[in-house]
Amino acid sequence: MIERTLVLLKPDAVKRCLIGTIITRFENAGLKIVGMKMIWADNERALKHYTEDITIRRGQFVRDKLLKFLVEGPVVAICLEGIDSVEVVRKIVGSTEPKTAPPGTIRGDFAHMSYTYADNNNRAIPNLIHASGNREEAISELGLWFSDKELHSYNTVHDSQVI
Ligand code: ADP
Ligand code: MG
Repeated sequence: MIERTLVLLKPDAVKRCLIGTIITRFENAGLKIVGMKMIWADNERALKHYTEDITIRRGQFVRDKLLKFLVEGPVVAICLEGIDSVEVVRKIVGSTEPKTAPPGTIRGDFAHMSYTYADNNNRAIPNLIHASGNREEAISELGLWFSDKELHSYNTVHDSQVI
């Protein structure tokens, strides 16, 4: 099923000048960029993005660190479209902890921090990317970061290969 998902290049990715390198990985996989912008999120947006769900799954400590981390600098918000894009994008991004994310994934290739190091140093783990976790999350997160007018439908030269 062709669907859309949200990717954020987090402040660490932007500050490390990895925007182009990371976007290339998604484009090379044939995913279509249908929306993209740089935003410096405020606290209100951060709270809506990292909801209570994070507290339930990761604890209040992690959510507090994450809320600070997300507003530390601008992020690049991208809407990617493709077949099962939520799942495929998370595969390309790799698992949450860079230390254990396999080589070949973005987190595995461009970072290496462990949960333990992040927690001992009182910080959110800088793992470069946010990618929606499931279809419902993608729909609500795209609504938070993009208006309908900012998302575009167009054909790429690759579409005849995909559809
Ligand atoms: P993912 O980004 O892979 O979907 P989660 O949604 O579970 O992972 O967590 C959101 C973010 O919280 C992670 O990307 C990471 O930056 C941070 N994080 C998660 N667990 C920890 C932890 N134990 N210590 C520090 N940061 C964490
Ligand atoms: Mg998540």
